Amino acid sequence: MRGEYIGAPGRLYRHSSQRMSRVIPKAPPIDVAPGAEALEPEELVRYSRHLGLAEVGEEGQRRLKQSSVLIVGAGGLGSPAALYLAAAGVGRLGIVDYDTVDLTNLQRQVLHDTAAVGQKKTDSALARLHGINPLVDVQAIDAELTSANALEIIADYDVVVDGTDNFKTRYLTNDACVLLGKPNVYGSVLRFEGQASVFATADGPCYRCLFREPPPPGLVPSCAEAGVLGVLPGMIGTIQATEAIKLIIGVGETLAGRLLLVDALRMSFRTIRLRRDPECPACGTRELKALIDYDAFCGAAPVRAEPDLATGVQDITPRALAERLRRGDAIDLIDVREPYEWRIARIDGARLVPLGQVGTKVSELDRSRDIVLYCHHGFRSLTAAEFLVARGFPRVWNLSGGIDRWSVEVDPSVATY
Ligand SMILES: [Zn+2]
Repeated sequence: MRGEYIGAPGRLYRHSSQRMSRVIPKAPPIDVAPGAEALEPEELVRYSRHLGLAEVGEEGQRRLKQSSVLIVGAGGLGSPAALYLAAAGVGRLGIVDYDTVDLTNLQRQVLHDTAAVGQKKTDSALARLHGINPLVDVQAIDAELTSANALEIIADYDVVVDGTDNFKTRYLTNDACVLLGKPNVYGSVLRFEGQASVFATADGPCYRCLFREPPPPGLVPSCAEAGVLGVLPGMIGTIQATEAIKLIIGVGETLAGRLLLVDALRMSFRTIRLRRDPECPACGTRELKALIDYDAFCGAAPVRAEPDLATGVQDITPRALAERLRRGDAIDLIDVREPYEWRIARIDGARLVPLGQVGTKVSELDRSRDIVLYCHHGFRSLTAAEFLVARGFPRVWNLSGGIDRWSVEVDPSVATY
């Protein structure tokens, strides 16, 4: 008995040498390139823990070897997905990313290490994945996925893993996968929560069935704005790798038609049913026959220069603000970020009033002076600026692009994070 059972008396679970009696559901496998070759002796050893699984076996491992997966984004989600798919023996792994590794990535992007800071993410990924499994053909695509190249790039792979962190690329990836009929293993994370699903299968829904249109720019914060627990993309990206493997082997029930919601604080996992929306322009009515301009679709248009008449908040660019400060204009510069961000970097002459305290500090602000608000990227400060305008402050500006853009365009000695 010792070591053979775990759990409370009356609910004993054998955890060794137990034959699984329940039926393992079988999903129809996706099409992978034909031409199954026998596994080499080294592969039989390397993948022996797969070969012992009846649901994978040598046939499943050969399917993995013949298959190809494209990972869009070598970031928080793409990292664990790429590591596990390479280790699992996916024959060809494409990684598309145009970014470089920076220090803030390392808290969660486990594909990259400290020595890779400043390198291209695709170079870092290539070296790491080759180290894990030299039998995998890793194809590093150092480019931004765009409407001009997405169809050509994605057409060359069997499965897509969406590791993007922005709506523009997420809609692009979705639409390209629907147009090409490629399964799209979706994941997203923010703060302590994550989601995963499988879109664009033969009968299943797509991302647009779930979210027809992107939220207005700035409404949903990015991970850079709102933060993310480092292990969370690890969890979701690993789930994405699991789903990709199941699709390739054709075993189990995938998340097609279901949305997995993960709450790491409560450690709860639940799934909700998703249906294909007959009105969906991508997979329903199919009126979307080509890729579109996703910058325009997601409202990521250039920052406006004119006053926003709807809110009364005006934008000011970092260069224009620097010029005004240089002239000695009387400006109250208010930083609405959190204290930890203030400790990383600040603009000289600013005063810290975290967003949550703006309401209680209103009486301390001078209505007769020009007020410029800034935050990390300009979203939180816009909220604060709208708040002040609504309370009758006549001269309020929002620093467009925040301290991040200030660092790029005005003062590189201000640290970015
Ligand atoms: Zn759809």
